[in-house]
Amino acid sequence: MSKKAALSELKRKLRGSVSTDPSDLYWKSFDSSKLLFPIDAVVRPKNEKEVGQLLKLANKHKVPVTPRGSGTCLIGCASSVHGGWVLDMSSWKKIRIDKVTGMAYVQPGAVIDKIQERAARLGWYYPPDPSSKRFCTIGGNIACNSGGMTGAKYGVTRDYIYALEGFLPSGDFVRWGADVRKYVSGYNMRDLWVGSEGTLGVVTSAILKLIPKPSCKWTFLAGFKSDIQGLDSSQALLKSKVIPAILEWLDTETVQCAERRTGKPIFRKLQPTPSVVLLELDGDKASIEADRKTVLTWAGKRALRYSETYDREKAEQLWQVRRQCSPAMYEMGNTKLNEDVVVPLRNQKALVRFVRQLKKDTGLAIPTFGHAADGNFHVNIMFNRGDKSEERIAKKGVMALMKKVVELGGAISGEHGIGLGKSVFLSVQHNKAEIAAMKAVKDALDPNSIMNPGKIFEPFEVWSKEPEKVQLPWDHK
Ligand SMILES: Cc1cc2nc3c(=O)[nH]c(=O)nc-3n(C[C@H](O)[C@H](O)[C@H](O)COP(=O)(O)OP(=O)(O)OC[C@H]3O[C@@H](n4cnc5c(N)ncnc54)[C@H](O)[C@@H]3O)c2cc1C
Repeated sequence: MSKKAALSELKRKLRGSVSTDPSDLYWKSFDSSKLLFPIDAVVRPKNEKEVGQLLKLANKHKVPVTPRGSGTCLIGCASSVHGGWVLDMSSWKKIRIDKVTGMAYVQPGAVIDKIQERAARLGWYYPPDPSSKRFCTIGGNIACNSGGMTGAKYGVTRDYIYALEGFLPSGDFVRWGADVRKYVSGYNMRDLWVGSEGTLGVVTSAILKLIPKPSCKWTFLAGFKSDIQGLDSSQALLKSKVIPAILEWLDTETVQCAERRTGKPIFRKLQPTPSVVLLELDGDKASIEADRKTVLTWAGKRALRYSETYDREKAEQLWQVRRQCSPAMYEMGNTKLNEDVVVPLRNQKALVRFVRQLKKDTGLAIPTFGHAADGNFHVNIMFNRGDKSEERIAKKGVMALMKKVVELGGAISGEHGIGLGKSVFLSVQHNKAEIAAMKAVKDALDPNSIMNPGKIFEPFEVWSKEPEKVQLPWDHK
C-alpha cells in the first residue's frame, strides 16, 4: 500500500491527532543536530490507546515512527532519517509527586526543569541535570540515559527510574517495574529501554526516584598553572573523599573563550590564562563546612588564585566562565563537533595530552572541558564547514579521538548517545558479537524495523549533510 493510503488510514483512525501542516512538518523534521529529513505526518496522540493504534498501523504499512520530546538531541536521534511519522509526546506533561515516598509520576513530555521545580516545592530533588534541562523532556532523557554535571555524585537518569510504561514497537502495552523500591521479576527490560534512543518502544509514563533536597550549596572557582595541574589537582581532591556535586575542569583554550565573550579576565592580574576548576558542594551546612575546610586547604597548596561563596548571586558570577565558554567557540570555526567522550579517571590526563597533540597535528582549535569527577569530557573540534581541507582534517581528528578513547578504556559517548552522529564509530567501541547481540534484540522486538530506524546501527556520516540554518530556542545568541 502507498504512503498516501497509510496516511489516510492514520488520519481516519486518529482523527484530530494528525498534522500535515507544512510548518509543523518542517519544525519536527530535525532535532538539535539540524539534519533535516522530510516526514509525512506529526502525530500528537490524545491518549495511550492512540499510541498503540499508531504503532499497529505503522507495522501494517511499514512506516517509520520517530518518538520525540523537545528535539534537543545533538546527535540526530530524533531526526527521522527514513522519514515517516513523528510521534510528538511533548504535550504529555503531567507531574505528580508522592510526598511520602518521594516518587514522581510523570508523563514523557514533562520538562526536567519543571520536575525539579515541582519536587523542590515539597523538599525533594531530582538530581540528573543536563545543561538542556530548561527544554528537554524526561522521555528524551530516558531514551538517551542523559546525564549532566552532577553525574559523579548523583548518577544519571537510569539511576532514578523505578518503572516505565509504554508500548512495544508492535503496539502492545507493557509496564516495566512498579512504584516499589525492590523489584526482581524476569529480565530487566526497563533498563534496556533506558538509553535505547526510542528504537525499542515508546515511553508513555515513568515513575522516578527523588531524594531529599540538599539545603545548602557552596561554590568555588580556582585557577591553576596548566591544564594538567588543574586535572591533577582535581584528582588529589577526590582522594581526600570530598565528593562535590559538581567538579568542572576547563582547559586554558576554553577559559580564553569565556574571557573573550565576557571581555574580562577570569581572575584579575592572572596571566597567562589559567586552567580552571569550578566546584560546588551541596548538602547540609555542617557537612559542607567540613568539606569546605578541606577544599580551602587543598586550594591553598595547589591553586594560583581562588574565589568562594555561599551566596547564590555571587555564585552565578563564578559560573559565568562555564556558561559563556561555549558560544565564543564559534569564533574559531563555524562548526563544532562536540564529542562527549568518557574515560576512566586514571586515564584523564592521557586523554588531555592526546587532545593537546591533536591540536598541534590538525592545527584546529579544540577547546576541551569536562566533568572531572566522572571522566566525561566535551572535546570540541572546531572547523569551518565549506573548507574542504578543514573538513577532512576534522573528520580524521574525530576518528583518531574515538580510537584513543576506546584504547584508554572509555566510551565514545558518556551523555548524548549514538543516534546518527556517532553511528560511524559504533564498531570502534563494540566488537561484532556485541553489535550482533544488540541487533538481535532490536530485530526480536521490532521485526518490521519501524521504531526510529536508521539510528545506532546504520553508519551515517554527519559531515556529509549540510545542517539547516535555523535558530533553535536553546541556541546561543
Ligand atoms: C544546549 C544543549 C545542552 C545539552 N546538554 C546535555 C547534557 O548536559 N547532558 C546530556 O546528557 N545531554 C545534553 N544534551 C542533549 C539532549 O538535551 C538530551 O539528549 C535530551 O535527553 C533530549 O531530550 P529531548 O526531550 O529533547 O528529546 P528528543 O531530542 O526529542 O529525543 C531524543 C531521543 O529520545 C527519543 N524519545 C523522546 N521521547 C520518547 C518517548 N516518549 N519514548 C521513547 N523515545 C523517546 C527520541 O526518539 C530520540 O531518540 C544537550 C542538548 C543541548 C541542545
